[in-house]
Amino acid sequence: MKEPTFLYGLDLEELTRLAAEHQWPAYRARQIAQWLYRKHIASWDEAKNIPAELPKALGPQWVLRALEFEEASDSAQHESVKFLFKTRDGMLLESVLIAQRDRRTVCVSTQLGCKIGCIFCASGKGKFGRNLTAGEIVEQVAWIEKKNGQPVTNIVFMGVGEPLDNFEATMKALKILQAPWGFGLSSRRITVSTSGITPKIVEFVRRSEGRVRLSVSLHSSDDKRRTELVPVNKKYPLADLERTLRQIHMTLKRDITFEYTLIDGVNDSDEEARGVVRLARPLQAKVNVIPYNPIREMKFRTPSPQTVERFAGVLEKSGVRVTVRRTAGQDINAACGQLRLDRGK
Ligand code: SAH
Ligand code: SF4
Repeated sequence: MKEPTFLYGLDLEELTRLAAEHQWPAYRARQIAQWLYRKHIASWDEAKNIPAELPKALGPQWVLRALEFEEASDSAQHESVKFLFKTRDGMLLESVLIAQRDRRTVCVSTQLGCKIGCIFCASGKGKFGRNLTAGEIVEQVAWIEKKNGQPVTNIVFMGVGEPLDNFEATMKALKILQAPWGFGLSSRRITVSTSGITPKIVEFVRRSEGRVRLSVSLHSSDDKRRTELVPVNKKYPLADLERTLRQIHMTLKRDITFEYTLIDGVNDSDEEARGVVRLARPLQAKVNVIPYNPIREMKFRTPSPQTVERFAGVLEKSGVRVTVRRTAGQDINAACGQLRLDRGK
């Protein structure tokens, strides 16, 4: 049989074309978009105002969803829920829902594995699978919203994978998430996190008109050490990253955030902190310090609360805004940026 084509992941233009091909009234395209991106249907039976003939007219090669829901596991504190999905080609993929007060943030994955291979990250271990499609990216949000029963308020592209290494699918997913005919989320509530592929950052900012929030995973202010931690730094060194971000900051006046995974005895010195100040201050960037979450392949240690405080203190005293991310859901290894493809058995 021919490979199926999925409805999730189509934008309004594509749905309009589909409607025209079948001689359906033009409003049908918007109706279908609503059923997909607002009501998150998993079968056509749920779509009340869609004629029963429609799925038949589409034929068997048109399938609604590419992801199957497998399971959801709650952290003991109920602050995060890890969702496991199965792709059509039998791969597992994870996303996390993090609930804090009136905010429900979904952390989406963009690839099955990651080619960047940062040494402290579980996502980069093991063989790279493939890029996810735009449909598979937005379906994570649709499934979670449907299962959770409450609207998702924020999206972070911080799950498995490097979003800018799966550029077109990420851009299309962003379009569907923001569009009024799609999920209708404000661009200010969406953050894309990248390890620092500078030409792609430029392209991303241009295509998203600087509206989607940008987070850059820094992890060191020293070129040599950053290359050890984030190998892509060899190709796009700090000076390149700095130049790119300054350019973006100057032209767009947009806030940039740095993610900084703090590892005991590796990148936690005062000298490192002063280097981060040097980079962050001219950009008015906020720094999000994430204490390293142990992964089984590496012997790194989580810094003590005192170390975290000292490091954050150096930044704060120099006028850099800092937040320390609590490692939500550590008990189920579900913190965002802590996802992997196997079940950890
Ligand atoms: N590939 C993108 C987005 C996914 S990773 C990027 O690197 O930015 C999301 C965040 O989780 C990154 O900042 C990453 O450094 C962090 N992270 C990965 N593994 C971690 C670990 N073991 N402990 C703490 N943070 C980790
Ligand atoms: Fe990939 Fe990001 Fe993990 Fe690095 S931190 S291996 S870029 S997912």
